[in-house]
Amino acid sequence: MITNKHKVLIIGGGTAGITVAARLLRKGYSDVAIIEPSETHYYQPLWTLVGGGQAKASITARSEASVMPKGATWIKNAASSVDPENRAVTCADGAVYEYDVLVVCPGIQLDWSHTEGLTEALGRNGVSSNYRFDLAPRTWDFIRNTRSGTAVFMMPSGPIKCAGAPQKIAYLASDYWRKQGVLKDIDVHLVVPTPRIFGIPAIADNLDKVIADYGINLHTNSEVTTVDAEAHKVAVSSVAEGGTDTTLPYDVLHAAPRQSAPDWIKSSPLATGDANGYVDVDKHTLQHVRYPNVFALGDAGSTPNSKTGAAIRKQAPVVVENIDAFLTGRPLQAEYDGYSSCPIVTSSHAMLLAEFDYSLKMTPSLPGLDPAKPHRAYWYLKKYGLPFMYWNLMLKGLA
Ligand SMILES: Cc1cc2nc3c(=O)[nH]c(=O)nc-3n(C[C@H](O)[C@H](O)[C@H](O)COP(=O)(O)OP(=O)(O)OC[C@H]3O[C@@H](n4cnc5c(N)ncnc54)[C@H](O)[C@@H]3O)c2cc1C
Repeated sequence: MITNKHKVLIIGGGTAGITVAARLLRKGYSDVAIIEPSETHYYQPLWTLVGGGQAKASITARSEASVMPKGATWIKNAASSVDPENRAVTCADGAVYEYDVLVVCPGIQLDWSHTEGLTEALGRNGVSSNYRFDLAPRTWDFIRNTRSGTAVFMMPSGPIKCAGAPQKIAYLASDYWRKQGVLKDIDVHLVVPTPRIFGIPAIADNLDKVIADYGINLHTNSEVTTVDAEAHKVAVSSVAEGGTDTTLPYDVLHAAPRQSAPDWIKSSPLATGDANGYVDVDKHTLQHVRYPNVFALGDAGSTPNSKTGAAIRKQAPVVVENIDAFLTGRPLQAEYDGYSSCPIVTSSHAMLLAEFDYSLKMTPSLPGLDPAKPHRAYWYLKKYGLPFMYWNLMLKGLA
């Protein structure tokens, strides 16, 4: 039985869902509904600074009600399946919602159990992750209480949200330990699956200097595959030629989990055929490749950009323009160029803002600053400017 029908139905009231809803309402659409089960909305980019002892977790969370755009219908429920042939979404409690247009943005799934032993180890005995709101403060506890030993920072294979986050916390921790005069007593390891620390050579060159300056041992083409919490050890495996196969002890371990589309999306008709199972959309129009009245953006979309809130800021206007074109029978003309930005905090007072598009061409927003190098101005942008922009402009459909 159908519970209700909406002109535009959005799955997920996170960064993407709220931004798109706000923009649609501003454009004059009045029947916009958002399916979102959570009572809390998070500004996740600050979790890096929480883990690095530079921000409080509480400022990253606000009630979902406070960010819900005026005029949107909030369906407090979790979507559990989509039937695109019949234009309907079923929720966890069995309620069914029909739509004219569907926007799919339920975020990404954190696959903690993919790394053996990680789920059990999380949150205690030095193991933490900035990928969870409740754990980011634990990261800081473990960092500030460490005076000697070994610290391991791991990045998983495959697409993840904010691919810079696994390395940023290594720099913040090293900076703190250096200021405390204990960095020389801590063996710091950064394990990444990629051939270099960053995909753009000019940026990788500068990050190599940051890594050398802190004396961090960088393991490229490698991944942590097992965490043995009892023995305080991780197994590192090579994922490509030149990788490391070894066992490292740890006193502190910062974990970034493997990630993929939510399981119910993977098994839905909307998914791509591959193991990641993201919503299969055209990378420019963000329209589904098989169902023209379905759009997706944000971390759950298949577009090959770096998965960030910054990307969503550029994707949301494209989705809204193209929904409007679709509903009014015009050709879809708005195109997303793959813009993303990766703010890499390199110390407690400097940041490198990597901005690029699908071609990996650098597209800096602030003129006059070399985008391949860390700057103090960017750090202020990260801590104060971007959160202000997020809560006051982006979520209100104004930026
Ligand atoms: C540690 C960390 C650091 C980061 N740093 C940066 C950074 O510096 N810059 C940057 O731009 N980005 C950064 N990001 C990434 C950024 O936060 C995400 O890319 C962005 O939030 C993705 O938005 P989204 O709307 O796709 O997903 P989310 O914002 O995660 O929202 C998904 C929403 O969907 C809801 N949902 C889930 N399942 C269902 C369901 N079944 N039905 C209905 N609703 C559902 C969830 O409750 C959630 O509200 C960082 C992320 C992390 C974790």
